[in-house]
Amino acid sequence: RRSVTPTSRIPYSNPEFQQDGGRVRVAVRVRPRNAEDLISDSDYGDSVEVQPELKRLKLRKNNWMSESYRFDEIFTETASQNRVYQVVAKPVVESVLNGYNGTVMAYGQTGTGKTYTLGRLGYDDASERGIMVRALEDIISSTAPACDIVEVSYLQLYMESIQDLLAPEKTNILIHEDSKTGEVSLPGASVVRIKDLDHFLQLLQIGEANRHAANTNLNTESSRSHAILMVFVRRSVQEKSTDEITSQEKAFRNVLPIIQRSKLLIVDLAGSERVDKSGSEGHLLEEAKFINLSLTSLGKCINALAENSPHIPTRDSKLTRLLRDSFGGTARTSLIITIGPSARHYAETSSTIMFGQRAMKIVNTVKLKEE
Ligand code: ADP
Repeated sequence: RRSVTPTSRIPYSNPEFQQDGGRVRVAVRVRPRNAEDLISDSDYGDSVEVQPELKRLKLRKNNWMSESYRFDEIFTETASQNRVYQVVAKPVVESVLNGYNGTVMAYGQTGTGKTYTLGRLGYDDASERGIMVRALEDIISSTAPACDIVEVSYLQLYMESIQDLLAPEKTNILIHEDSKTGEVSLPGASVVRIKDLDHFLQLLQIGEANRHAANTNLNTESSRSHAILMVFVRRSVQEKSTDEITSQEKAFRNVLPIIQRSKLLIVDLAGSERVDKSGSEGHLLEEAKFINLSLTSLGKCINALAENSPHIPTRDSKLTRLLRDSFGGTARTSLIITIGPSARHYAETSSTIMFGQRAMKIVNTVKLKEE
């Protein structure tokens, strides 16, 4: 059996990739108001004015309004989980099923819906299911249980240390990068073959419980770490591009099907709120430095991707090293920016929107104009 890594497939072009130039797709999701927002809104109003049909939004503060910013999609407070999945994640999942690596990430202030969007289990109500469950549902139903393999690892990255959420005794897992293929792997992490969707739901639940327990031990909050679900898909496929191979080779390949390997990463990032370094000391200060390191280096990589730069600076943090082969090249990346609806979120919303705009390659500075 021959195996083809996504890297060795680069000469066969990915049509989806060519279509949008490999640009990171960026969607904004506005969280519905909660009780706290409703109280504060009577004083301050909205943080943004959205024009979903134009895929634009403006930042708003009191009587001031920014210029309008365009995104690939804007989800208002009423957008369903299914719609968010279909627009943001499904193209990435399809690309992974076709043998390319891909990433879906959520970036935003704590409490704006990153975990709801990605990790919601929806045990009681399947319509509430988040992207992780929907992606696995699609992957499981598109693969053949007899010959294809779907496996997952579930990890937490906290202060540049990787912990296994499926086997919490495994801490400080090291990243291995194959010098020839560029393939990134975690030899020490547990990899579980998924039997069916229920099995995956159980694993996610175990992972969440382990994450909670680990963070209690470390005396921190889940919002201070990144949660990373890795999905490995191995499919038995027939060679697609037969033009340049001889009939002898063709016969050989027909007997021995190619094993197509690809990987999907779903990343629930640490809260993007700026940690007040001046007020922090000791452990909190160290924690803040690490969160800033990984989010800043992620930002640099996204900017490099947005500018079509040949060099993506993934070396600077473990987060970006993990993303290295799932990012750029032929890989497809979607970013969901989550924001709070209320003006009390204005400062964080504004910096989150600017992060998303840089990823859209439309570098703007916020200029507030009087209405
Ligand atoms: P984060 O992961 O960004 O810290 P959460 O996903 O935990 O935020 O969301 C904070 C709270 O808001 C949770 O109680 C969550 O259920 C709720 N929430 C977030 N987004 C939505 C949404 N689109 N619809 C309904 N509830 C939401």
